[in-house]
Amino acid sequence: MASYDVIIIGSGPGGYVCAIRCAQRGLKTAIVEGRDTLGGTCLNVGCIPSKALLHASHMLHEAEHNFATMGLKGKSPSVDWKQMLAYKDDTIGQNTKGVEFLMKKNKVDWLKGWGSIPEAGKVKVGDDVHEAKSIVIASGSEPSSLPGVEVDEKVVVTSTGALELGKVPKRMVVIGAGVIGLELGSVYARLGAEVEVIEFLDAITPGMDAEVQRQFQKLLTKQGLKFTMGAAVQSVEAMKTKAKVTYKMRKDDSEHTVDADIVLVATGRKPYTEGLGLDALGIEMTKRGQIAVDAHWQTNVSGIYAIGDVIEGPMLAHKAEDEGMAAADQIAGKHGHVNYGVIPGVIYTHPEVANVGMTEEALKEAGTKYKAGKFSFMGNGRAKANFAGDGFVKILADADTDRILGAHIIGPAAGDLIHEICVAMEFGASAEDLALTCHAHPTYSEAVREAALACGLGAIHS
Ligand code: FAD
Repeated sequence: MASYDVIIIGSGPGGYVCAIRCAQRGLKTAIVEGRDTLGGTCLNVGCIPSKALLHASHMLHEAEHNFATMGLKGKSPSVDWKQMLAYKDDTIGQNTKGVEFLMKKNKVDWLKGWGSIPEAGKVKVGDDVHEAKSIVIASGSEPSSLPGVEVDEKVVVTSTGALELGKVPKRMVVIGAGVIGLELGSVYARLGAEVEVIEFLDAITPGMDAEVQRQFQKLLTKQGLKFTMGAAVQSVEAMKTKAKVTYKMRKDDSEHTVDADIVLVATGRKPYTEGLGLDALGIEMTKRGQIAVDAHWQTNVSGIYAIGDVIEGPMLAHKAEDEGMAAADQIAGKHGHVNYGVIPGVIYTHPEVANVGMTEEALKEAGTKYKAGKFSFMGNGRAKANFAGDGFVKILADADTDRILGAHIIGPAAGDLIHEICVAMEFGASAEDLALTCHAHPTYSEAVREAALACGLGAIHS
């Protein structure tokens, strides 16, 4: 048995970042992880492997569609799927090993195994019970499914199975047009699969700016993805190497069946709290099965905190990281802070999609008077040279004060461009502040400035 200032359960981006920050604050820290490698969902079966496959498949798409136009002649590369998976696994390995190195460097002990909390101040891992003044639960989330849909991770898969398929399927059905379904759907479509996305709602990526949703669906359709919208999946019947998906159209109740080699169930994720012993501890939960916390990430049991996917809020790695740092600061007696109004969301398809702050729909509902400055990447020289003219930047600013309230980007490097606006929002900047800032030419970021100019006198290149 060992005694610690802090024990963190779970080594995803919430847990490992919290551990490093605790160590930097001079706290004796341990992290508990049941997986064989550190890094959680994000590094092992989430953000990192999906981005590796998105990158590789995008390279193929570029070779097939744009190389010849640039005078790069020759046969397009063919897909060696085993090697692509090996590249993905190597990327995972480099990242998980990196976290292990960071734990050692910061003198954080890794307690290997699945942890539980027998009582406040104690964490049990295997047969060992360790003492901790503070405990942070960062146990993350797991994929959720639908009634009537049984996942076998072979023919009917979640994102985890979709990251290690035996071969590229001929036909794939994706249930759910959210971020994960569209990213992985794009990967397989680029690799040659016929991909059909079945979505319950009438728009893809629920909660996003409606104009972006429409443009995004149009561009993905152009890339070969087929969308069946307003369809409620009733059942998935899995056979050895195929599956049958039955759905009902919401508008007329008509029933339809489609076949697929692989069905990807991408209907969201749910908090993972199994085996922690939360019931016996009397830890309060929300109606959606998340751990309830106060403004300082503390549960109703003193000394037990929770962060990341297991609590309320967007299920994003960077949100978990921010909470990890803030909770560590609180535990160290400092003031931890997360600005939930400025958490960017990114979809890593091609083009990328990124957003921060309010949507037009939310502003209208709140009765806030706003102005929208929009600029198309067609007017951006760099984007045109790089075959990346599809998409736009839209900045929403308060009609009276000009303060930036939100931004929505679909286009090249959207996931990087959004951060300029995040920083501006953190500093309470106006659209004019951005418009007056010199932006290097030729860069995609000029489109951000043009959108800011469009909130005032008007953009220059449109
Ligand atoms: P997790 O990363 O889920 O880590 C929790 C860890 O706790 C796990 O390793 C688990 O084994 C461990 N654990 C749980 N219970 C115990 C226990 N009792 N004892 C010991 N260990 C335990 N987010 C982004 O921001 N950007 C992206 O591009 C992105 N892409 C994604 C792609 C996919 C396919 C998926 C599935 C997710 C993606 N996400 C992305 C979401 C992101 O992965 C999560 O938001 C993030 O990992 C949450 O971090 P966390 O620390 O809360 O939990």
